Amino acid sequence: MGKIHDRLKAGQQRQHTVTVDARVAHVLASMTGKSRVVDTARRMSVFLQDLDRVRADRSLDTAGRHFTMQRLATEAKALGLKGRWNLLCNRTQCLRTPAVWYNRGSYAFYCEDCARELNRVNARDAENLKPGTPLCRKIVNAEEAADLHCMS
Ligand SMILES: [Zn+2]
Repeated sequence: MGKIHDRLKAGQQRQHTVTVDARVAHVLASMTGKSRVVDTARRMSVFLQDLDRVRADRSLDTAGRHFTMQRLATEAKALGLKGRWNLLCNRTQCLRTPAVWYNRGSYAFYCEDCARELNRVNARDAENLKPGTPLCRKIVNAEEAADLHCMS
């Protein structure tokens, strides 16, 4: 009884302490329907807490970390947090932030490491398609990022 009660209590506290992270505010702003927004906000907040926890957990071995990060990446994708400006990198198993590098091929945003890697491996194709313009470029302006989201 004690354990179940504690777990329920922990669950309740978790619900009550959920705050909408600034990182997800602009995603939520684009949604309609209050219950969906609240549901999504809760899922996003739980996701962000899990991500912070996994990043800080030094006890996970490589396989455990890999499995957990894969699960989190799937959830991030389902929540629409991947590939959006200033949120999570669009690369399948990458959960780095901030994703501020725009890929004009996939119309999505990537972290700096992944963007530089994509620019490196696609240098020749990018040069052939649009000379002098790399595949990914850094976007620092939120309005420009919003315009790019609208176009994709
Ligand atoms: Zn990345």
